[in-house]
Amino acid sequence: MLKIFEFRITFLLILCLNLVACSDTNQPKTYPFVYTEMIMGTSFTIKITTLPAAVKIETLKNQIKNLLDKLNGDLSTYEPKSALSLFNQKLSSDWQIIPNSLLIVLVEAQRISQLSAGAFDISVGKLVNLWGFGVEPMHFSAPDDNILKKVLATLGYQHLLIDKPASKIKKQQPELYLDLSAIAKGYAVDQVALLLEVQEINDYMVEIGGEIRLKGQNISGAGWKIAIEKPTSEKRVIQKVVSISNIAMATSGDYRNFFELEGKRYSHTIDPRTGRPITHQLASVTILNNSAMTADALATAIMVLGEDEGYRLAQQQNIAALFIIKTTEGFVEKSSSAFIKFFKETS
Ligand code: FAD
Repeated sequence: MLKIFEFRITFLLILCLNLVACSDTNQPKTYPFVYTEMIMGTSFTIKITTLPAAVKIETLKNQIKNLLDKLNGDLSTYEPKSALSLFNQKLSSDWQIIPNSLLIVLVEAQRISQLSAGAFDISVGKLVNLWGFGVEPMHFSAPDDNILKKVLATLGYQHLLIDKPASKIKKQQPELYLDLSAIAKGYAVDQVALLLEVQEINDYMVEIGGEIRLKGQNISGAGWKIAIEKPTSEKRVIQKVVSISNIAMATSGDYRNFFELEGKRYSHTIDPRTGRPITHQLASVTILNNSAMTADALATAIMVLGEDEGYRLAQQQNIAALFIIKTTEGFVEKSSSAFIKFFKETS
C-alpha cells in the first residue's frame, strides 16, 4: 500500500508568525519589516524588529532577493545552468573554477563529512535522485539492487578535490554528482544575516526552509519564540517552544519528505554506507550552532547516524542537539549536554 507524503515545507512552526504584540499602551506593535517569498523550492521569511532610518524597505527586499537568486544560481541542482549543475554535468576530471559561495559550502561539507565519518556526504546526489527525492519527480518505488550497487560504487566525498586558494574543484570519479540540499539553505541564511548586520540591523529572524538564524529581540522585546514540531506526518503539532536568540537552528527529520511502501517508510535522508534511506528510530534532530550552514549539515549528519551513534558524536564534539526518538510509548526527547548547557546559560 503506498502512502505519499511529500511536503516541501519548513520543519519549524515559527510561533512568532503572529506579527503583532501588545505593547504596554495596549497598542498592537507590528514588525516594521516582514518579507516572505519562495526560493530553493521552499519559502523564506525575514522579520526585523528595529529598522535603522537609513534602510529603505524596498531596497532591502531587492538586496535580499538578488542575493538569494544569486545563491540559487550557484548552488542548485534544480537549475540546470547553476555552477553546481554545470560541474555535475561535466564527466571530466579537469579542474573547474567555481564561485566563492560554492567553494565555502563545499569546504564545510567536506569538514562535516570527515567529522561524521562519511554519514554526511554530498556525493549522495545520484542516490537521492534514484530514490525519487531529487530533481526528478517522485516515483515512490525502491530502485533495483543492481543499479543501487552500481551508483554506490561511484560515490564518496573523498573523490572531490578542492583547491581552496585557486577556488577550483575537480572530480577524481567523473560520475560524481553533488547535492547541496542538506547544507546550502543554511549557508543562504548566514549570508542574508550578514547582509542585515552590515546595515546595523541587529534584531532579526531569518528563516529559509526551516533553517533559521536569530539575533537580538522580537517585537515584544524578548528572545525569539520558536516552536519545534512533533515529528508526526499527519498533522502539525508543537513538540516544544524554545525562546532563543543570537544563534542558528536547523532541524532534519524523516516525517515530511517520504513515501511508504508495504508499511515501510522511505525518507529523503540517505545513508551513504548502504545507499538506502535511514531505517532507525530517530524521527528528528534539531541543532543549535553559530552558523546556520553548520547546523543544517550537522542535522543531516546526525539524522543519518541515528539516536545512538548520533548522540555519541554530539557528546564527543560538543554539538547542541535535541533528539526526538520514536518509541513504542510515543516520542521521547533526548538532549545533548551542549543543548542543555545552551539553555542554562541563556535563561
Ligand atoms: P534536510 O534534512 O536539510 O536535507 C535532506 C536532503 O539532503 C535530502 O533531500 C537530500 O537531497 C540530501 N541528503 C540526503 N541524505 C544525505 C546525506 N547522507 N548527506 C548529505 N546530503 C544528504 N526543491 C524543489 O523542489 N525545487 C527547487 O527548485 C529546489 N531548489 C533548491 C535550490 C537549492 C540551492 C537548494 C539547496 C535546495 C533546493 N531544493 C529545491 C530542495 C529543497 O529546498 C530542500 O533542500 C529539500 O526539500 C530538503 O531540505 P530539508 O531541509 O527538508 O532536508
